[in-house]
Amino acid sequence: MQVITSIHAIQESIKTLKEKRSTIGLVPTMGALHEGHLSLVRQAKKDIDTVVVSIFVNPLQFGKNEDFARYPRTFGNDCNLLSQEGVDIVFNPGAAELYPDGFCTSVIPESLEDKLCGKSRPGHFRGVAVVVLKLFNLIQPDIAYFGQKDFQQTVVIKRIVSDLNTGVTIKVLPTIRNQHGLALSSRNAYLSETERNEALCLYTALTRAKTLANTGTTDAGEILREMEKIISQSKSATVDYISVVHPETLEAVTKAQGGDVVALAVRIGKTRLIDNIILLLLITFSCLILPCKISFLCTQVF
Ligand code: AMP
Repeated sequence: MQVITSIHAIQESIKTLKEKRSTIGLVPTMGALHEGHLSLVRQAKKDIDTVVVSIFVNPLQFGKNEDFARYPRTFGNDCNLLSQEGVDIVFNPGAAELYPDGFCTSVIPESLEDKLCGKSRPGHFRGVAVVVLKLFNLIQPDIAYFGQKDFQQTVVIKRIVSDLNTGVTIKVLPTIRNQHGLALSSRNAYLSETERNEALCLYTALTRAKTLANTGTTDAGEILREMEKIISQSKSATVDYISVVHPETLEAVTKAQGGDVVALAVRIGKTRLIDNIILLLLITFSCLILPCKISFLCTQVF
């Protein structure tokens, strides 16, 4: 496994790979790797000739009072894990390499950046957009892999790829959870044991939302109230947002339907955690109604 830190060296390697017609998969990460990240790597290994994993704690996506300085950095262990998975290249640039003096360009996902996480993390998605676009330009992947856990991020990236015609296929893979349902996250390292237990309220609330929707509740307000009730039982939990949203526009809906996303951010003590589920498409109703419509049409035609 090659570890590359400079822009010049990654461009040279990619040029050689392209000349050999190797397909390239990219898994962008901020390191402190866990099974969630590794699930993306494993999928890339199945799909693609050359797998590149970037490890870069991107200062542009952290607000002034956020955890950039203390974000877990475990580079040696990350490299061991990636080498065991058969990763070909780790791209680990420093901040000055990606953002040299004078860097001033932004990418603004206009109507998506002030929704959900964007409300309490202003500028976050511009930072994500810039770094992902830079990585796409440098690594020119055929496929890039992202986790559903960061749902808004996947929506922003798909939008950018479509709006700016980057020609990269985006694959979004399911959230990996621990045995109790807690979504794996590098930030779980901040949680005490008690907080780790309390953090299960995110998954419990999402599971309740899914059950309600599956049994016919469409009133988003009712779903959200039930979720809030569950979360309020955890002493250290403070809700940042809970919302049922359209999967592409991220607009809040009042009447939930299949494909909509229930997303939430909750602080457990000082640690902000996010999670989400996609509501199932309820096809029972259309299956029942479709034959009626067809027979009605048949009656009219014949
Ligand atoms: P991060 O290092 O947190 O920026 O995450 C890098 C990539 O891994 C992103 O696409 C995340 O959505 C994805 N990821 C993080 N946690 C999980 C998880 N529990 N399951 C699946 N993917 C994840």
